Amino acid sequence: MAVYAWTVCACLSLLIGGYYMKKSGLLFKLGFPIGYFLYAKTSLGYFYHQKRVKKRPASSAPHSKVEPVAVDDSIVIYPVPYLEDNYAYLVVNEKTKRAVAVDPAHHAVLLGALEKYGVTLVGVLVTHKHWDHAGGNYELRKTFPHVPIYGGRKDLPAGTTHFVDPGVDIFIEEMNFHAIWTPGHTVGHIVYFLKSTTPPCLFSGDHLFIGGCGKIFEDNPEVMFQSLQAIKELPSDTLIFPGHEYSWSNLQFALIFDPHNVNVQKKLDNIKKLRLKRQATAPAVLSEELQYNPFLRTDSVALKETLKLKANVSQVDVLRKLRQEKDKFKAAA
Ligand SMILES: [Zn+2]
Repeated sequence: MAVYAWTVCACLSLLIGGYYMKKSGLLFKLGFPIGYFLYAKTSLGYFYHQKRVKKRPASSAPHSKVEPVAVDDSIVIYPVPYLEDNYAYLVVNEKTKRAVAVDPAHHAVLLGALEKYGVTLVGVLVTHKHWDHAGGNYELRKTFPHVPIYGGRKDLPAGTTHFVDPGVDIFIEEMNFHAIWTPGHTVGHIVYFLKSTTPPCLFSGDHLFIGGCGKIFEDNPEVMFQSLQAIKELPSDTLIFPGHEYSWSNLQFALIFDPHNVNVQKKLDNIKKLRLKRQATAPAVLSEELQYNPFLRTDSVALKETLKLKANVSQVDVLRKLRQEKDKFKAAA
C-alpha cells in the first residue's frame, strides 16, 4: 500500500507540478484533467496533501508575519499562515475566547494557533473541497468530535459534518456567517460573509484574492463572472480575507494590463513594502479592491484595449481573456 501511495503521490506531483509550471504540451493537456480529478475528487489527493504538510511542519517558519485584526469591540480575526502561501483564520469572540476557524487544513498549525491565542474552537467553516483548505477535517473530527464543520453541499469537502446550502445563515458565538455560493474555482465553492460585525468581513477562500481571483478549475468564465458579481454587491466597507497570499503576483499582473491606473500602482507599492518585510497583505477593503482588481473591473475600457479586445465584447469575454493571461503569467520573485 505504501509503495502504491508513494507512486500515486509522485504522479500527482508531476501532474500538478506540471500545471504550475504552465506547460502547454499535449501530454499536459491530457494529463492535467486526470491529475486534477485524482487530486480533487479522490482520497489520493489527501495523501498528496499530507505529504505537503509533512514538508512544512508547524515548527517551520510561517510564510508571512501576521497581526490580529480587531474588527469591532468583541471580534478579532487572527490570520494563521500555513504551507507555502495558505491562510486559515481564527474568528474570535474576545468576550468568550471562543473561535471559529476558516479553512484550517494544517491540523498542527491550527492547534498551535489555538494555544497561542488562548481560545477554544467552537466551529469550522470550509470554503471548498481542495485539500489545502479541507485537508484538516479528518483530524479535526478526531480532536474536536463535537465541533461542527460546515462545507458547501455541492462541493462536499471531505470530513464535513454540516452541509450548507447557498444563502444559509450560520450562527456561532453571536456571529452570523452568511454562506454565498460562488462557483467557478470549484462547482460548490462557498464564501462566508460575516455580516454581524461593523465593518463586515468576507472569507473568500480561493474565489477572490487581493488583486485577483481563483483559477477556473471546474466551471466556465460565465459562471465565474456571476460569482464575482455577487461579491460586488456586498457592502463597500467589507474587509476581504483570502485563502492565499497571492497579492504580490496579482498586483504585478494588474499593472501590466491596467498600466495607467493609479490605484493599481499605489496598491502595488503598498504590497511591495509589506512583502519585502514578509508581512501579510490581508485584509483588503472591497471599495478599494474595486479600483485595482482587474477581475472586478471587467467593464473597464482601458482593460479591453490592453487585452486587445474589441470595444463591443462582453465582460465575460474580458474575464476569460484576463484569466487566460494570468494562467500564463510569471511574477517576479
Ligand atoms: Zn482551491
